[in-house]
Amino acid sequence: MAGSRTAIVTGAARGIGAAVAQRLAADGNAVAVLDLDEAACADTVAAIEAAGGRALAVGADVADEASVAAAVERIAAELGEPTILVNNAGILRDNLLFKMSVDDWDAVLNVHLRGAFLMARAVQKYMVDAKFGRIVNLSSTSALGNRGQANYSAAKAGMQGFTKTLAIELGKFGVTANAIAPGFIATEMTAATAARVGADFEDFKAAAAGQIPVARVGEPADIAHTASFFASEGAGFVSGQVIYVAGGPKD
Ligand code: NAP
Repeated sequence: MAGSRTAIVTGAARGIGAAVAQRLAADGNAVAVLDLDEAACADTVAAIEAAGGRALAVGADVADEASVAAAVERIAAELGEPTILVNNAGILRDNLLFKMSVDDWDAVLNVHLRGAFLMARAVQKYMVDAKFGRIVNLSSTSALGNRGQANYSAAKAGMQGFTKTLAIELGKFGVTANAIAPGFIATEMTAATAARVGADFEDFKAAAAGQIPVARVGEPADIAHTASFFASEGAGFVSGQVIYVAGGPKD
């Protein structure tokens, strides 16, 4: 069995986070399914338990320092000291620059960047003590620039710099940090984008697939597979990397 550690996946009530949580549990890890609303985590926890795994639903706001501290302490006490962290929680507040409010900017930077910082800072002590850790941060192809996403692209590019710095600082403690930069993945987030531009989601996905070399959009399982690799024992010499999981090359 590859796992048997304690993992935290943020934003794991649905979408990519739910798939990552289920995959890390299938790998043998106990998984804290963390999201804003604890009740919303029930389906992911039930799916993990139905497959014979161990999971705990945790309600927390990753952008709030006290909420993160309480959540991580509870996870360490009830599930085990966490040594795998997947910073996946995310939101969109898309708008062209001239229409983007300060609230839109702050909300996105807070959830993605402040959230990843607070979570990593709270969890690193358990990793350093264990002389083992795996931090996986969700970036995006939008880090390369995307119309209407000045806030989100800045946050996702920031995730890459943050990841590389964690890799440099924590490597000597057996802790790796890597980033996954997904392309188009079919989730509620991309469904909401389709709705915002007035497109039917199936048409929106077909149009996206037409631009992707492997001729399909991504699924949450595509990201879960990559997260499983980064979290594995055998990936200890892979650190500070960004993998674009986008069905084709990105740079
Ligand atoms: P999603 O379906 O919208 O799920 C995101 C989850 O994060 C939701 O359950 C949401 O809870 C939760 N969340 C939001 N703010 C939070 C907070 N402050 N604290 C804790 N949890 C919070 O999104 P997804 O498509 O699975 O995306 C997951 C990650 O992948 C995000 O970081 C996203 O930016 C990244 N990504 C996605 C794509 C894509 O094509 N889908 C592409 C590139 C990167 P609520 O429902 O309560 O808001």
